[in-house]
Amino acid sequence: MPINTSNSNVATRENRIGSITGYVGTLHDLASQSQCGTLKGCSRCFSQSSTCLSSCGLGQLSAIRDVAIIHHGPAGCSVASSTAYYMTKVMAKKRGVSSNTIYVGTDMNENDTIFGSTESLRKIILEVNKRYSPKAIFVSSACATGIIGEDIDSIVDDVREEVGVPIVAVHCEGFKSRIWATGFDIADHAILQEIVKPPREGVKTNKINFKNFFESARPEIIEIFKNFDLEPVFLYCNSTIEELSHLSESLATTCICGTLGNYLGNGLEEKYNVPYIRSINQCGIAGFEAWLREIGRVTGRSDKVEKYIEEQRAIYIPQIEEVKKELAGLTAVLGMGPGYTFEVSRVLEELGIKVVWALAWHYDKKYENGDVPPSMKYLLDNDIDFGASVADQQNYEVMNILNKYQPDMYLSRHPGSTVWAIKNGTPAIYVADEYMIFGYKHTLEFAKTILNSVKNRSFEANLAKRTKLPYTDWWYKQDVDTFLEEVK
Ligand code: SF4
Repeated sequence: MPINTSNSNVATRENRIGSITGYVGTLHDLASQSQCGTLKGCSRCFSQSSTCLSSCGLGQLSAIRDVAIIHHGPAGCSVASSTAYYMTKVMAKKRGVSSNTIYVGTDMNENDTIFGSTESLRKIILEVNKRYSPKAIFVSSACATGIIGEDIDSIVDDVREEVGVPIVAVHCEGFKSRIWATGFDIADHAILQEIVKPPREGVKTNKINFKNFFESARPEIIEIFKNFDLEPVFLYCNSTIEELSHLSESLATTCICGTLGNYLGNGLEEKYNVPYIRSINQCGIAGFEAWLREIGRVTGRSDKVEKYIEEQRAIYIPQIEEVKKELAGLTAVLGMGPGYTFEVSRVLEELGIKVVWALAWHYDKKYENGDVPPSMKYLLDNDIDFGASVADQQNYEVMNILNKYQPDMYLSRHPGSTVWAIKNGTPAIYVADEYMIFGYKHTLEFAKTILNSVKNRSFEANLAKRTKLPYTDWWYKQDVDTFLEEVK
């Protein structure tokens, strides 16, 4: 489906690309049902620990320096401000830059939900602009404003000239999607709609747009890219509006996670012909090399890339092979967002670890361009199969699976999930940092981390001995799909 930036509303992942949040079976069955069009999402009678898409969407936008986020909704929705605070204060300080990004909740009350509050919203926008002089303003809706049909688009259009900086309506009604990653698309849509400008004539650049979360490997990637005479532009953590306005001039767009970067990458390609790097991601050896080679191909730098790969292989492959000897035959269960679930599964198999079950917090049947996500395609092409479920962080299902399979380790990117595995006595690895398995160096470190975790299991064993879990034997004997119902 083409990306339509003339409308501020983004269709949900469910409607746009057929994403689902409920499935239990195997990887191959999931893929074949997706391909023949019979895959239907399932729902559960309750959600244990999902989240609102506005936290994702506004978290992304508030990472940009010196902007204003105006969240038009009841005070409770402003819980998203905790992410904004972290991005503005902690991440900017880590990088050594300053950010005056501010987050304002409009505190809708009962009267506002009955009579509407567009007039107050107009005043708040103008006051925020006067007081903080932001470089751009993002005006977000919430469930309540969406339900009463508050016309934030008209208000934004009305004040556009007066504020004199880019201003855009961001439709973040939490009820519209069960998939929090829809928030990433909403943020990207706002950037494509109002911030990115057409390329300036005659401007030549060696920049690569690099969509990531927290840019922790920034210095390292800058150094790697110097080998190819390329310069990464990290998004959106600590980006400036000026940088974002020139994304259309870059040589290509890449990302650390397809779930995070797919919308922006496809949008820039569709609108401005900036090629989007569609490869498995940079985790593990196969992923890192495939990604570098694709960058080399797209930017005409294949020779330089091959030289770099050869040099780095000589340093790291023998060391990785050494650790692999001790990992062979171990088993793993993992639970992550779909981008990482299928990328990390590949790396574990690469290290000789058997994945027995993988949970993805949602599943994208295809990406914006209609292709199966590359991480999934790689597993299928290499005939890798395992038990698979799609569950939006339903930890009670994780516990059922851990109890059944008794794996040597559980890996998750969400601390609220790993802690349950530890209480169960299962060694757990928190793949918190997005660059934890990036390239040769971090794949080696990751392999060593796994080894440390499985060699010394006393912490998990002791904690499990002293923990009474809320689950009964009855639940452990159930099939994990007990509470699943097909969505009609
Ligand atoms: S937008 Fe809706 S789902 Fe999100 S926090 Fe507000 S009320 Fe909750």
